[in-house]
Amino acid sequence: WKNAPPNLRALVELSRTHGARAATILESDRVSFDAQYRAIAALARALAERGVGKDDRVGMAMRNLPEFIVAFFAIASLGAIAVPLNAWWTGPELEYGLKDSGAKLLITDAQRWERIAPSRPNLPDLQHVIVTRAGAAPENTEALEVLIGHPSDWATLPDQPLPDTPLDSDDDATIFYTSGTTGAPKGALGTHRNLVTNIMSGGYNAARACLRRGETPPEPQQKVFLTVIPLFHVTACSATLMGAMAAGHTMVFMRKWDAVEAMRLIERERVNVTGGVPTIAWQLLEHPERAKYDLSSLEAIAYGGAPSAPELVRRIREEFGALPGNGWGMTETMATVTGHSAEDYLNRPDSAGPPVPVADLEIRAEDGETVLPRNTVGELWSRGPMNVRCYWNKPEASAATFVDGWVRTGDLARLDEEGFLFIVDRAKDMIIRGGENIYSIEVENALYEHPAVVDAALIGLPHKTFGEEPAAVVHLAPGAEATETELQNWVRARLAPFKVPVRVAFAPEMLPRNANGKILKRELRAHF
Ligand code: ATP
Ligand code: MG
Repeated sequence: WKNAPPNLRALVELSRTHGARAATILESDRVSFDAQYRAIAALARALAERGVGKDDRVGMAMRNLPEFIVAFFAIASLGAIAVPLNAWWTGPELEYGLKDSGAKLLITDAQRWERIAPSRPNLPDLQHVIVTRAGAAPENTEALEVLIGHPSDWATLPDQPLPDTPLDSDDDATIFYTSGTTGAPKGALGTHRNLVTNIMSGGYNAARACLRRGETPPEPQQKVFLTVIPLFHVTACSATLMGAMAAGHTMVFMRKWDAVEAMRLIERERVNVTGGVPTIAWQLLEHPERAKYDLSSLEAIAYGGAPSAPELVRRIREEFGALPGNGWGMTETMATVTGHSAEDYLNRPDSAGPPVPVADLEIRAEDGETVLPRNTVGELWSRGPMNVRCYWNKPEASAATFVDGWVRTGDLARLDEEGFLFIVDRAKDMIIRGGENIYSIEVENALYEHPAVVDAALIGLPHKTFGEEPAAVVHLAPGAEATETELQNWVRARLAPFKVPVRVAFAPEMLPRNANGKILKRELRAHF
C-alpha cells in the first residue's frame, strides 16, 4: 500500500489484508474483508463483461447494504464512475439523477427499482439494470444474486484478482449529489485522490492533540462503527468508509434509523463509534429507555454535516462518557475539511475544529477576493486535494463555485487565532433585520440551552420596514413545557434584542430533515 498509487483499487487490495475480520454486519449477514474482496472482484468482472469501462457512469440506488460497498468499489476499480443516488428520492428524483449523470447501468435494490421502473422509457442511456435482493429479477433486469450470490455466500466465491484497467489518481471516480438543502441537488465530480485523501485526514487532529501534550499518539486500533447515516452521501461513504477499508474497521448497518434498534445493536456488537449527524446523538441522549441498554462500549460520538449545539458536546461527555467529535465538510469537498480532537472540541464546543493538514481555509469578503483578518465573519473558501474540481453537467454553477483552485462554500464563518473554524450560518440562511445581521446558528444555540428545547431552527419572516425578522420553530422534550414569551425572554437574557425571535412556533415532532440530517428550513415557513 505504501508504494501503491492513491486510488480506490489499491484501497480494495489493502482492505483484503484485514482477512476474516467483519467488514460489514447487517442483521445476520456478517461479511469478512476477504469475502467482500471476492465479491468486488466478481462483480467488477461481471460489469466489465456487460460493457462497463473507463468513465462510464453507473448509477447506484439502494439503502445501506453490504452490496453498496461491493458495487461502489467494483465500479471504481474498472475506472468507471459510481453515481450513488439518494435512496430517499422519489421516482422522478431518481429519474433526474440517472438522466443527469447519463448512467449506462444501474445497480438498485428492489424497492428503489419499483420507483424507477416507470421512468425507464425516459432513460435512453440506461442499457442495463441489476437488481439486488429481488428474489426473481423483474422483467428486463438481472438479479445480483445470480452474478455474485447473497452476502452469506461471498466467502465461497472464487479467489480472482481485480481487473487491471489502468487507473490514475486523478481519474474521475464518483458523482455524489449535494443534499439539495438550498436548491436542486448538484452532482459533484470526484476523483480517486479526492476520496483517498480522507484516509490521511481521519484522526490527524486527535494525534496532533497528543503531540501537543507531549504524548505519543496511540497505535490506530480497529473499531466497530454503527453507521446509521446513508452511504450515498460523502459523510458516510467518503469520510467513514475510506478509513474503514484502510484500517479494517467494521461497519454495522441498520435497516432504517430507530433509536431503540441502534441501542440494541450498540450493546450486541459492542459498538465503539457512532453518530454521523448531530440529530442522531440527540435522539440517543433524549431516549427514555436509554438506561436499559449497555452502551459502555461507546468511545466516541462524532458528527458533522450540520450545525450542532454546544450543549450537545457537554452532554455526550457527561452522559455517555464518550468523546464528542465534530467536523466540517461538504459534498464539493468530498467530506472532511476540519476535524476536532475531543479535547479541543470540549474547550471550543461552538467550533467545527481546525483544518486537516492538507486543507487551506480562508475567510473572504463578499467580493470573493479580499481575505479577511482572523475572527472576522465572512465567506469560507477551501482549497486542497480533497476538493472536487467541478459539478457534473453544470458549467454555470461550476464557474461560480470552483474558482482558481478554491471552493467557494456559501457558508459564513470565522477562523480564530489558532485556525479553528466557527460556522455561523449559511449565506442563504442569514437573516438581515433592518441592516443588522442575525446568524441563525447563534440564536438556535441559545434556544438549545433551554432545558425544554430539543430541536430548534431560526428562519426569516418578511417584514415591511425591516426587510426580515427572525422567527423560531422549536420542538420540546416529551412532557416538557415552555411558552413563547418564556423562550423569547430566555434568548433576550443571552443575546442582543434584535436577535430575539418575534415569534416562536411549537412543532409537535422533531423538525423535518433531509436524508443527510439537515433541517429543511423552507418547509418551516408553513408554521407562520
Ligand atoms: P445543497 O448544496 O444542495 O443546498 P447542502 O449544502 O446541504 O445541499 P451538503 O454538501 O451535504 O449539501 O452539505 C454541506 C453543508 O453542510 C455546508 O455547506 C454547511 O452549511 C453544512 N455543514 C457541514 N458540516 C457542518 C458543521 N460541522 N457545522 C455546521 N454546518 C455544517
Ligand atoms: Mg451546499
